[in-house]
Amino acid sequence: MTASAANLNAKRLYNFSPGPAVLPVSVLERVRDEMLCLPGAGASILELSHRSKQFIEIQENARQRLIRLLKIPDSHEVLFLQGGARLQFSMIPINLLRGAKDKTGSNPAVAQYILTGTWGKYAVGEAKKEGSVETIYDAKSTNYDRLPSSSELSIREDAAYVHMTTNETIQGVQFQNDLSSPAPLVADCSSDFLYRPMDISKYGLVYACAQKNAGPAGVTVVIIRKDLLERSTDNLPGYLSYKNHAAEGSMWNTPPTFAIYTLGLVTQWIEETIGGLDAMLKVNHEKASTVYNIVDKFPTMFIGHAQKDSRSLMNVTFKFATEELEKAFLKGAEARDLDSLKGHRSVGGIRASIYNAMPMAGVKLLAEYMTEFANKNG
Ligand SMILES: *Cc1c(COP(=O)(O)O)cnc(C)c1O
Repeated sequence: MTASAANLNAKRLYNFSPGPAVLPVSVLERVRDEMLCLPGAGASILELSHRSKQFIEIQENARQRLIRLLKIPDSHEVLFLQGGARLQFSMIPINLLRGAKDKTGSNPAVAQYILTGTWGKYAVGEAKKEGSVETIYDAKSTNYDRLPSSSELSIREDAAYVHMTTNETIQGVQFQNDLSSPAPLVADCSSDFLYRPMDISKYGLVYACAQKNAGPAGVTVVIIRKDLLERSTDNLPGYLSYKNHAAEGSMWNTPPTFAIYTLGLVTQWIEETIGGLDAMLKVNHEKASTVYNIVDKFPTMFIGHAQKDSRSLMNVTFKFATEELEKAFLKGAEARDLDSLKGHRSVGGIRASIYNAMPMAGVKLLAEYMTEFANKNG
């Protein structure tokens, strides 16, 4: 392809992809501007040693921004890891369940899982390879369209931990508040990290791959309560030990430097351009209600997957009565530069992922198109 042909293809669409997903344009522009030479470093971020003064500063700034945005208390450590959220499905039980004992002090402890969708199911599958696991809630009977109320959960005080998925990306169901748990609460926040303020003190461990709501693929943020690091036994494979990563300031091995740099720019954008997580949440409420209002206005056209009180602000999921309508909808969307709206095959229909960086303009265009489509085909 010649340079000019490449330029013709370089039109940005409104990207509703579930992940890797949309990033703020200002962040991409900055990455572009600094790609050849990071100011002051004499080289590209791609070429820079992770031991260089410049990179150490970049990583520290990203860490500090996360600490400020989420008000992470001193009791917790922030780690930058690789392997995605999937590796955490294994690292969590390997570090926190292996060898853990229940209140008798002699029987193995149990890890409890709350299943509200596909990712939680994958997580529990990995944990079962490692130890004793109990599913304390499973929304299977209603096809994962709802969340449990706290009265539906019986959490054991002596559980090794309790695992939840704050936002089920495929089904589009989301916990909007922090749960309380007598056992260490472990939360997969991969697809809604930084969408709102969180009370980190309520969690034993929070983790998120970056490529949905916080940056590019390649880095996974783990926020772990420091006392839990003591559960990592010394005979674990080195990379799998949280204790190793914490002891070495996430430099036990070469960290994903470019992904951390970009995550740092995204957190800077949230802090300085958006104005922090309270402001981010307000924007997210406005965007989500713009789409859900249309779903509710035409309920026979757009058949929402999630029950109303369990709806996600990040992934809006709905179906049509027929496959023809779905095809026509996707075709019309494409003609309007509304991209990647097809739902996950397990749920079908449409999934509009409207993460932090999706501009209101894209959401409005989608809502206008939905209205037009419903009026024409209803
Ligand atoms: C995408 C996703 C994952 C998997 O992340 P990888 O980085 O691909 O391992 C896990 N959990 C949730 C909630 C996700 O959205």
